[in-house]
Amino acid sequence: MQTHFSLAQLADPDTREADKILRACVHCGFCTATCPTYVLLGDELDGPRGRIYLMKDMLENSRPASAQVAKHIDRCLSCLSCMTTCPSGVHYMHLVDQARHRIETTFKRPLAERWLRGFLALVLPRPWLFRPALVAAWLTRPLAKVLPGRLGTLAALAPKRLPSPSTVDRPQVFPAEGARRKRVALLTGCAQQVVAPQINEATVRLLTRHGCEVVVARGAGCCGGLTHHMGRDSLSFAKANIDAWTREVAAGGLDAIAINTSGCGVTIKDYGYMLRSDGAYAKKAAQVSALAKDVSELMTELGLDAPTVRRRRCSPRPASPWSSRRKRISAAAPPAPTTCCSRKSPGSCATARWRISRARILRSSPPAMSAASPRSPRAPTCPWCIRSSCSIGRPADKCQRRWRGT
Ligand code: SF4
Ligand code: SF4
Repeated sequence: MQTHFSLAQLADPDTREADKILRACVHCGFCTATCPTYVLLGDELDGPRGRIYLMKDMLENSRPASAQVAKHIDRCLSCLSCMTTCPSGVHYMHLVDQARHRIETTFKRPLAERWLRGFLALVLPRPWLFRPALVAAWLTRPLAKVLPGRLGTLAALAPKRLPSPSTVDRPQVFPAEGARRKRVALLTGCAQQVVAPQINEATVRLLTRHGCEVVVARGAGCCGGLTHHMGRDSLSFAKANIDAWTREVAAGGLDAIAINTSGCGVTIKDYGYMLRSDGAYAKKAAQVSALAKDVSELMTELGLDAPTVRRRRCSPRPASPWSSRRKRISAAAPPAPTTCCSRKSPGSCATARWRISRARILRSSPPAMSAASPRSPRAPTCPWCIRSSCSIGRPADKCQRRWRGT
C-alpha cells in the first residue's frame, strides 16, 4: 500500500512503525473472509482492510478521529484472526492499538459512553473493586428490563452466583510434586480471578503435578490489556508486572511466566514492544516478554501426563462403635465410586459413601449370602445384618434377623 507520510511525521517512532505496517499491506482482502465482524455485518469498513484504510487516512492526515472511524474501530474485537490469515504479515495489532490511542485522545464520545468506559477502565482491572461492583450489579438484576440502554444490558449480564475469592490468587509459592522441572510464575490476572477462580486453581494443580514450582508474585496483577484495548494508559500495569516478575527472576530464577488467558498472553508478549523506547524498562520488558508462555505452550514443552482420577481422602475420624460396621458394609458393597460422590467436605465424605453403599445393598432383593471377602475373615455373613443394630459380623446361620425376615 502506498503511503504519504511527511518526513516530519516519520520522525515520530510510532508513525514510522505505522508506515511500515501500512506498506506491507497489498490490499488483497484475504483477511476479510476470516474477520468475524465483516462476516457478520458485511460492511467493508467492518473488515480489517477497510479499517486499515480508515486508520491510514487518519494517521496520514494527522486528523482527529471522526465518529465513523471510532465506530468501525470500536467494532474490532482484537481477535487477530486477520493477522493469522494475512499473507503479507501485516501487524494489524500494532496499527489498531495506535488508532485506538488516537481515538481516545482526539475523539469526544457522548457523556454516557465516556462515563461507562471510565467506569470499566477503573473497575475491571482491580479485583477488589470488580467484586463489589458485581454484587451491586447482581442486586440490580431484577431491574434489568427497566434500566435504560447499556445499564440494563450490564445488569442482565451480572452473574447469578459469584464464587468466593480463591486462596490461590494470593502471593505464594506452590512446590512442585516430585522433582522440580521448572520454576514458573503464574499471572493470576484481574477479572478472571473474580468470575472464574477455578481456572487459576486448575492451572496450579496441573503445573505442580507436572513438576513445576508455581510462584504467584507479589505485586503482579492485571496485564493492562483491558485498558490498552480502550486506548488508555496500560503501561502502569505493565511496569508493575515487570517489576514483580523481575524480582522473582533475581530471587530464584524463572523458566517461564504461565498465562492461562489468551488475551493477557498477547499483551504480555507485547510488553517488549510497548516499552521499547523506555530506557528504564525496555530491557526488562523484553526479558518478561520472552518468558511469557501460554499454559498450552508450557504443557507442550513439559509433555502432558495421562490423566489420573483421584479419590479425595476422608479425614481420620475418631473410633466409634459404628466403624467396624462401616468397614463391613464397604466390603460387601459394590465398588465405591472413583470420585467423591457426595461433593461434601472430606470429613463427611465417609458418611455419605457409607449411606450410598448401604442403600445399594438394601435395594438388592432377595438378599444373597455374601461370599468370603478378603478383608473379612469371617464368612459367609448375611447381608440382612446391615439392617440390624445387633448382629453385625455374626455368621449367616446365626443371624436371627434373617430368619425373622425383618
Ligand atoms: S490479508 Fe493482509 S495484505 Fe491482504 S488486505 Fe488483509 S491486511 Fe492487507
Ligand atoms: S482483529 Fe478486528 S479486524 Fe482483525 S479479524 Fe478480528 S475483528 Fe476483524
